[in-house]
Amino acid sequence: MRDKVVLFWFRRDLRLEDNTGLARACASGYPVVPIFIFDTEILTRLEDKYDRRVDYIHQALKAMNSVLQNYQSGLHIFQGTAIAAFVECLQRYDVQEVYCNRDYEPQAIKRDQEVKELLAETGVPFNSFKDQVIFDQYDVLKQDGSPYTVYTPYANKWRSLLKPEHLVPQQVEPDHFYKTDPVKIPGIEALGFIKTDLGFEPPQLDVSIIGAYDKYRDYPALQRTTLLGIALRFGTISIRKCVAFAQRHNEVWLAELIWREFFMQILFHFPRVVSQSFKTQYDFIEWRNNEQEFTRWCTGSTGYPIVDAGMRQLNQTGFMHNRVRMIVASFLCKHLLIDWRWGEAYFAQKLNDYDLSANNGNWQWAAGCGCDAAPYFRIFNPYTQTLKFDKELNYIKTWHPDFDQEIMPPIVNHEAARERALKTYKKALEQTR
Ligand SMILES: Cc1cc2nc3c(=O)[nH]c(=O)nc-3n(C[C@H](O)[C@H](O)[C@H](O)COP(=O)(O)OP(=O)(O)OC[C@H]3O[C@@H](n4cnc5c(N)ncnc54)[C@H](O)[C@@H]3O)c2cc1C
Repeated sequence: MRDKVVLFWFRRDLRLEDNTGLARACASGYPVVPIFIFDTEILTRLEDKYDRRVDYIHQALKAMNSVLQNYQSGLHIFQGTAIAAFVECLQRYDVQEVYCNRDYEPQAIKRDQEVKELLAETGVPFNSFKDQVIFDQYDVLKQDGSPYTVYTPYANKWRSLLKPEHLVPQQVEPDHFYKTDPVKIPGIEALGFIKTDLGFEPPQLDVSIIGAYDKYRDYPALQRTTLLGIALRFGTISIRKCVAFAQRHNEVWLAELIWREFFMQILFHFPRVVSQSFKTQYDFIEWRNNEQEFTRWCTGSTGYPIVDAGMRQLNQTGFMHNRVRMIVASFLCKHLLIDWRWGEAYFAQKLNDYDLSANNGNWQWAAGCGCDAAPYFRIFNPYTQTLKFDKELNYIKTWHPDFDQEIMPPIVNHEAARERALKTYKKALEQTR
C-alpha cells in the first residue's frame, strides 16, 4: 500500500514560514511530502563549480530539513530532471495533488507545463500559487488590459491596488508534514559542486539599513543596502514581509521592490527580451565587440578605477553595489560599444542575486534599449560618478587598493568614447526610421 500524500515542490520559495503554496498543501487534509529537485538541466549549464548560488540553496535546504526533523519529517531531495523526479514520486506515493508557487521565467513555465501534463495523465492536479510577488502578471494592467511598459505608471497602479490582505502572512501548519525517518541532505560535492565561502544566515530586515535607505543607498563604500537580493531570489524571505516592512520604514525601498515586480511582468509579457532589445530598433547598433576589451572589463583592468573596483568586487564576492553596476554596465555598452548581452551573460555567471528578469531589465536599461530605459545620450562619466558617490575613494581603495600604482592607461579616452557611442547609437536609430 502506498501512502496517500500531497507533494509540495520547493523552487524559489525556500522557507517554511509565510509560504502560500506550502500553507495550502498543509491545509489539503493529506500529509505533505516536501520535495526539492536539483535540476540537472540547470546545474549542468553552470560551468564554474564554485557557485555560491548552489551553495546557498544547499545550505537553505539543510536549514529547512533540520526544522522539519523537529516534526519527524524531512525534505526529499532529487537530482535529475523534474520529470524523472515526479515519475519516481508517483511510483513511491499515492499522490493526490501537487502544490507549488508560481515561477514566471520562460524556462520554468515550460518545465511546469511538462510536469502538469505528466501529472494529468494519472489525474493528479497541479496547483500553483502566487507567492514570490505581491502582484503577478495579470494583476497590474492598464485600463485597456495591456501590460505597463513604463515603471512610474506601473508603480502608481501597483501602490493603488495594494490592500492589507495582500500582506497577510500565509501560515504553515507544520504538524501536517509526512512523517519519515531523519533525512540526510547529500553533500554539495555529490552535486558536482564545491563548498564556497558563503555562509547562509536566515535573512533579516534591518531597520537601521532600510530606515535610512534613501539617504545612503547610493554610496557604495558605505554598503548601506540590504543585501537581500539572494534571499528574494531564492525565497528565503517572504515578499509580503518585506513589503509590509517597507511600508512602515521606507518608501524608496518599497519602490525597489516594485522595480523587481515590474521587470518580472515585463519578462512574462515580452519573453523576447531574453535575446532581443525591448526597443527593437536598438538591435541595429553596430557593436564593436572587441574581445580583448571585454576581457579587460571582466577582469577589472580598464584603467577606470571605479569600473575596475566594481568588477573586482563582483569577481571576488559575487556582489556589486547597484550604483557601480549601473556605471560598469553603461561603460561596457557605451564606452566600449560591447553588446549588452555579453555583459548580461557575465553578470549571470557571477552574481549571487542573479535573476533573469532583473538582470535583463537593468542591462537593457543601461544600454538604453529597455522598456523604460535611460535615454541613449545620457552617458555616465565614470570620473564624475566617482566624485559624486565615492569622493574619498574608499570603495575604490577597498576593491582595487593599488589602483593608483598600476601603470594602466585608460582603455579609452572618455570624451572620444562618448562621441563614438553617440554617433553609433544615432546611426542605428536613424536606420530604422
Ligand atoms: C546591470 C545591472 C544588473 C542587475 N542585475 C540584477 C540581478 O541579476 N538580480 C537582482 O536582483 N538585481 C539586479 N540588479 C538590480 C540591483 O542592482 C540589485 O537588486 C541590488 O544591487 C541588490 O542589492 P541589495 O540586495 O542590497 O538590494 P536593495 O538595494 O536593498 O534592494 C532590495 C531589493 O529590491 C530589488 N531591487 C532593487 N533594485 C532593483 C532593480 N533596479 N531592479 C530590480 N529589482 C531591484 C532586489 O530584489 C533587491 O534585493 C541589477 C542592476 C544593474 C544596474
